[in-house]
Amino acid sequence: MKLDPSVMRTMSRQDFRVLAAVESGMKSHSLVPIALITSTANLRHGGTAKILSSLLRDKLLSHDQSCGYDGYRLTNCGYDILALHNLKTRGIIAGLGDKIGTGKESDVYVAITPQNTQIVLKFHRLGRTSFRDVKKKRDYFMVNALSKNKKQGTQYRTLPNSWLFLSRTSALKEYAFMKSLYDVGYPTPRPVGQNRHVVAMGLVRGVPLYQLHTNRVSAEQAESIFRQSALLAGRLAQHGLVHCDLNEFNLMVDLSGVQARIARTRENVDGETDERDWDDDATEHYVRHSGLPVQTKGALSAHGPLQKHHIDGTGEAVTEAPPEPLERLENGEPKPIVTLIDFPQMVSTRHPNAKELYERDVICLKNFFGKKLRCFVEGETGDDDDAKFGGIMPTWEELIADEENGDATCGGDGADDVTLVSKAQLRLDEELKASGYSEEDAARDSELAYYEAHQQMSRTLGRVDDVDEEDSDEEEDDNSDEESSAEERLEEPTDNDCNDFGSVNDEDQAPEL
Ligand code: ADP
Ligand code: MG
Repeated sequence: MKLDPSVMRTMSRQDFRVLAAVESGMKSHSLVPIALITSTANLRHGGTAKILSSLLRDKLLSHDQSCGYDGYRLTNCGYDILALHNLKTRGIIAGLGDKIGTGKESDVYVAITPQNTQIVLKFHRLGRTSFRDVKKKRDYFMVNALSKNKKQGTQYRTLPNSWLFLSRTSALKEYAFMKSLYDVGYPTPRPVGQNRHVVAMGLVRGVPLYQLHTNRVSAEQAESIFRQSALLAGRLAQHGLVHCDLNEFNLMVDLSGVQARIARTRENVDGETDERDWDDDATEHYVRHSGLPVQTKGALSAHGPLQKHHIDGTGEAVTEAPPEPLERLENGEPKPIVTLIDFPQMVSTRHPNAKELYERDVICLKNFFGKKLRCFVEGETGDDDDAKFGGIMPTWEELIADEENGDATCGGDGADDVTLVSKAQLRLDEELKASGYSEEDAARDSELAYYEAHQQMSRTLGRVDDVDEEDSDEEEDDNSDEESSAEERLEEPTDNDCNDFGSVNDEDQAPEL
């Protein structure tokens, strides 16, 4: 499915309002009746039916009469547009660029911020491949399907609209994990914001590990990549987390060694580097970009050559020399930078299957580095491999023993790569209520809990959130009384009455495109 945001240019505030009303109706209806849409949107001058037909024409809605009445539901595209509109209204994005990645259950786009830096938007698309598979793999499906909204009698499990709900929960979880990991110094993309099924994050320079041309990687670089990757598994486990998909597809590698994110880690260690400078600097290297419309085709590429452009006084595009890598290896080559991505499937080390999941991660890494990136292991197999890996990636038994002894290190002598944090100081799984707390989970609304836990953790760490979604939405108020009664009706859900598909009024006051 192609995402074409250009339709947003011609959409009015009322159009978004009706679209959001359909979304809201999908909490309780698999096909939302027109009467409910009309009353929820509550347009002062009417015209809901006309707007519905234009939204249908733009394929933001689909229409069905199989239920015996005129019913509407959001399409994937409609859901995308609502999320994009929200991010735009909050000043997180100003334009959308090319698709730069397609995951199992996601589409990844590059976007441009109003400050002209590039970020990434990950659209979660659960159920795209196999809905049954999602139910099997994602623990939060069952938790949420069973525990939510008894008050309204909503049974998500029976709703065909569950894909919306699941994709949103997945995005919510990914954002919460990413933010927590980033906050304690993990090499993850910079979390920027989240709405509905979309996570906005920093653009990571480089390519996924599996795309690395092994013949272009020296033995020293390969070893550095391996050490950084392997350390991550043990370090996560020390924080009480198992990634569950820690493989060459979810590790990004920047061979040029200038990826912005690592600057933060460095800053944590010696307090010298200014994160913002690096971020701005590094994200500009890929492209020349100027006054983007909502969509720019072909102009943006995250995998482009390492170049920085700017327009000089005469209007000419000038290409600057690439920046220096942050660190160099002993042989003088830039030290590659490994960044971890893709978090929605993470679980707690207290999950009943944590051991198997951790061991699967370890085996994936061993296989890749041992068999595919041969330049490191150089033909060694079996026990020799284990000896090499063992110092860095602790076995599950070693981890458990460490925990019992209260040991704060996480294996190996690769402390140069990351900042180690004692698990005694912080168990992220507890903070985040990662999966594995099934009894507790079943009794609560896990979506809100992720947010609440994150807020709580931020407070524990003495950090303040950069993006306060609700506040920024309020700022958009234009004090028009035209929609005031509708605003009351569509007011932001409270903690006890969570709107599963995103708030309805969060972008109603947005300026038109
Ligand atoms: P999935 O959960 O569907 O596997 P991923 O998060 O792994 O999705 O992303 C899919 C692909 O998108 C990655 O392999 C990578 O190429 C690209 N990608 C994801 N996040 C970023 C990012 N922050 N910066 C650059 N590329 C990214
Ligand atoms: Mg992935």
